[in-house]
Amino acid sequence: MAKRDYYEILGVEKNASPDEIKKAYHKLALKYHPDRNQGDKEAEAKFKEAAEAYGVLSDEGKRRNYDQFGHAGVDGGFPGGGAGFTNVEDIFSAFGDIFGGSVFGDFFGGGSRGASRGRRRARKGASLRCSVELDFSDPIEPIEKTIELRRGELCEACHGSGAKPGTKPSTCGTCGGAGAVMSSAGFFQMRSTCPQCGGTGETISDPCGTCRGAGRVVKAREIKIKIPAGIEDGITLRVAGEGESGDPGAEAGDLLCDVRIRPHPVFKRAEADVFLVVPISFAQAALGASIEVPTLRGKAELKVPRGTQSQTVLRLKGEGFPKLGGYGKGDQLVEVVVEVPRKLTKEQEKLLRQFAETEDQNVTPERQSFLDMMKKLLKR
Ligand SMILES: [Zn+2]
Ligand SMILES: [Zn+2]
Repeated sequence: MAKRDYYEILGVEKNASPDEIKKAYHKLALKYHPDRNQGDKEAEAKFKEAAEAYGVLSDEGKRRNYDQFGHAGVDGGFPGGGAGFTNVEDIFSAFGDIFGGSVFGDFFGGGSRGASRGRRRARKGASLRCSVELDFSDPIEPIEKTIELRRGELCEACHGSGAKPGTKPSTCGTCGGAGAVMSSAGFFQMRSTCPQCGGTGETISDPCGTCRGAGRVVKAREIKIKIPAGIEDGITLRVAGEGESGDPGAEAGDLLCDVRIRPHPVFKRAEADVFLVVPISFAQAALGASIEVPTLRGKAELKVPRGTQSQTVLRLKGEGFPKLGGYGKGDQLVEVVVEVPRKLTKEQEKLLRQFAETEDQNVTPERQSFLDMMKKLLKR
């Protein structure tokens, strides 16, 4: 079939201005829009033809080529090869801005839903959510966890088309492939998703036996999730592409994995640092000591300096968690609490009383100033 002249299709002169071309196309696109001509094959063909003509004449370079070489000068530069637009969806994606703007805006009551008019686009798969629980000290190194989930995947037998292998879905007779139907509600035109095809623009007469025409099947999967060292409670990891499958040709959704970390009976955590409270004796505090304390990875020696006061926080460098997304490790902070003995042996009591008798002569400078202040207060 010989192609009609693009200027003729749009009904404009050879020297028409871009604005005239746009207006002419608007008029035709409105007239032959699939929403107004459901199931009308001739209207659909005219709609495509006008879009093709507009695609060329609205583009300065293509128009010049066309003026010089005719159809041969522009063929091949279109979706669907030289044959122009093969389906309505291509037109919507090529000129979506026009449909969203003034042209159909007037007709459909305005709004910016224009680009989404026409057939449903191939959609990315839905995200799935899962959670993993870790032990308190698991994040000291990277860890891999396997989770089980059920997710919708494209049917392998029909590659997601839903049609019996070897057959193809046919254009929906209700919406003519547009994926939507128009209905009148008084003065207004209502547009709704085609009830026959659910917006895909296609119907399946011979469904795939594996998925019964749905195009997808639910599969039980085991997914390995890599959890980085230093992960913290409440963080959600995104595993790209492990969610539900998308429409054929579209990306799969993501798997969002909530990380929960079980609390520890003695350790507490703040980011990469770990906290621990350790009781020490009065003698250890006064004389200094080296004590063994538990750490995330085992145990470590903690030096308690001579004369350490209760609730002093001592630091074990690098004994914390790896820093998430950074270098190095946090510290372990140990708060020492001096315990006063509840019971004393006879021997201990004797020694302590002897010690007490010496206290008045051996006052530290800090204690001296405190005692001076107390004296002042008592004198008032
Ligand atoms: Zn199938
Ligand atoms: Zn339909």
